[in-house]
Amino acid sequence: MTIHQNLIAGEWVGSNGSENVNPSDTNDIIGVYAQATADDVKQAIAAAKAAFPAWSRSGILERHAILKKTADEILARKQELGTLLSREEGKTLAEGIGEVTRAAQIFDFFAGETLRLAGEVIPSARPGIGVEITREPLGVIGIITPWNFPIAIPAWKIAPALCYGNTVVFKPAELVPGCSWAIVDILHRAGLPKGVLNLVMGPGSVVGQAMLDSPDVAGITFTGSTGTGKRVAAASIEHNRKFQLEMGGKNPMVVLDDADLSVAVEAAANSGFFSTGQRCTASSRLIVTEGIHDKFIAALTERMKSIQVGHALKPETHIGPVVDVRQLKQDTDYIEIGVKEGAKLAFGGERLERDTPGFYLQPTLFTEATNQMRISREEIFGPVVSVIRVKDYDEALAMANDTPFGLSAGIATTSLKYATHFKRNSEAGMVMVNLPTAGVDFHVPFGGRKASSYGSREQGKYAAEFFTVVKTAYTLA
Ligand code: ADP
Repeated sequence: MTIHQNLIAGEWVGSNGSENVNPSDTNDIIGVYAQATADDVKQAIAAAKAAFPAWSRSGILERHAILKKTADEILARKQELGTLLSREEGKTLAEGIGEVTRAAQIFDFFAGETLRLAGEVIPSARPGIGVEITREPLGVIGIITPWNFPIAIPAWKIAPALCYGNTVVFKPAELVPGCSWAIVDILHRAGLPKGVLNLVMGPGSVVGQAMLDSPDVAGITFTGSTGTGKRVAAASIEHNRKFQLEMGGKNPMVVLDDADLSVAVEAAANSGFFSTGQRCTASSRLIVTEGIHDKFIAALTERMKSIQVGHALKPETHIGPVVDVRQLKQDTDYIEIGVKEGAKLAFGGERLERDTPGFYLQPTLFTEATNQMRISREEIFGPVVSVIRVKDYDEALAMANDTPFGLSAGIATTSLKYATHFKRNSEAGMVMVNLPTAGVDFHVPFGGRKASSYGSREQGKYAAEFFTVVKTAYTLA
């Protein structure tokens, strides 16, 4: 098998590689991907630093053309890249193609943003002086991404970084290097000058850590676990570096007595189980008022029976496998914990055998859970959901907010009063009414509060807050 190499200073390099394995079929090896060393990372950072002065002053039409060309190629190849994504991550082909389309939309959006860069001109408090406020790129941006969105998350970090004139050292997650390699290849061929975007694949403890330790990285944008996020924060403070973190969630979905039952069930099934529950915006806590509780559980378990778990590329599959053996163990450990804590295993909980060897797990529902149980407080990151029964809306809202996290929160209700109150009082970065907690647009802010996020929002024009630094210039007229 040919090795997919790292891109450093405009050259494809690296000879030793690691296999990328399909979680739907562990006999299917997708490819071999080079593993960078700490020294490779240093060279990549040096290349990005050297490329920064010219790229930060490059013309907006050059940036626009490269980002637009990238968007167009990603979209034209959505079937092929969606298949690659589903093979390496295990989400269904429909979800894979959807994610690839979203990556193209993101590049297209930031291609457009290059043509809308603007500042402000403001009169000074002192007569005869003008004040200009402009945004400048930061410098070298380190990008560290997780495995659950192998193309959308790299896209929503790389596109704005380049749009605003930064150079990049990009480290994708070990489990899903394929889509990252593909978008770096597309950007490289679209005409990025050498050193502007560098790809360093490999383990977080080596490649990621070398980025954290470098004084030449001006900003790090990270999506991943809370534990690694804390390391990124500590190292970044030491280097006086800007950082942006997207971490876990334990997203609640409140279901009120007046909810439309089918809307509530569909939103819960989608946000709890689709993408195998491996979305940081998945709802893993269903907080249900007592008037609808039993009806809702009956309808949701009925809906769960129709969910087909299988090979990600099979058309009849609704939920693919868990991403790898380590995540599968985490999911099944939490299922055991839930049972020991006294929650009732109402559906699922078993590993499944399919035609191909893979990490298949039934969607799993716990009822009679409390909000204090570990299964209701800790992020599981699998298709495992707990249902908590409450008396009324006030108790539901208090419980929805009683969590260390604050990424996304949902409510199913037909009451304008409760919907409006929930939007105002939910302590989450994103609030959904009669919609799944997962599933967001590409052009509006994404991010959370409390332990879920740190720093400014990603996506849309709000991305400028992280990827640029503000300058205030005074001129005597
Ligand atoms: P998960 O448990 O979901 O894999 P991680 O936080 O471990 O979450 O991984 C998210 C990203 O962070 C991955 O690209 C991973 O390689 C990277 N990473 C892991 N450890 C470190 C580290 N010490 N320094 C920098 N990056 C790391």
